[in-house]
Amino acid sequence: MRYSRVMIWAAHPDDEITMAGTICKMVEEGTEVVVVQFSNGNAGFCRPEWKDTIADMRRKEAEEADRILGIPPRIMLGYDDQGVVNDRSTIQRCIQLIRKHKPEALFSHGPIDRNRDHLAVASLVEEAVWQAGERVLATAGEPWHVKHVYFYKGYGLMGPRVSIDVKKYIPTKIKALRAYASQLEMLPHLAKWCERAERQLEHHPDDDLLGIYTETFVLHKMTVLPDFP
Ligand SMILES: [Zn+2]
Repeated sequence: MRYSRVMIWAAHPDDEITMAGTICKMVEEGTEVVVVQFSNGNAGFCRPEWKDTIADMRRKEAEEADRILGIPPRIMLGYDDQGVVNDRSTIQRCIQLIRKHKPEALFSHGPIDRNRDHLAVASLVEEAVWQAGERVLATAGEPWHVKHVYFYKGYGLMGPRVSIDVKKYIPTKIKALRAYASQLEMLPHLAKWCERAERQLEHHPDDDLLGIYTETFVLHKMTVLPDFP
């Protein structure tokens, strides 16, 4: 899995952390990583007084996570949380992004999920990857065929799967997840994950008791040659 350019679609700030180890590995190998974040996460607050400031807090957290992961500042589309939809303007925006950045592989949410924004992104990727390669909407850039589409979450029991060894990058993954302080407070299982991962690294570095040394992906789509036969 070596690419020159990849794109990662995240419905919310912090979704990309699911594949943070793989992001670090790709960055180290010289792959250009472009993260697209759809929503500003403004429903992700566990204290009423954060209502008006949460979007800004999460923007800063995401910027810090980008620095930790060593990637350029992500593209933030700024949709409301719980408000990402597959409508005409969004699909056109997605087609435009694919054609502009020309990723060889695109990593996305899959369709097995309960979160409406995750599901919207899964549906957008399906259509946008196809339409970006067609000769439609000539004002949105030259057609671009994304070779591989992977789901990094939301894939249920789907396959086939690819597992990447990310042991080396777990300390960075923990650090990047910790950058999302507002989410660690809202979702205690995330904070617990960090603590348990740190304990494993300290006491049993060679035994992956938590199963965190690999990140798994479902290869959803391999684009056939556009001009075949
Ligand atoms: Zn999410």
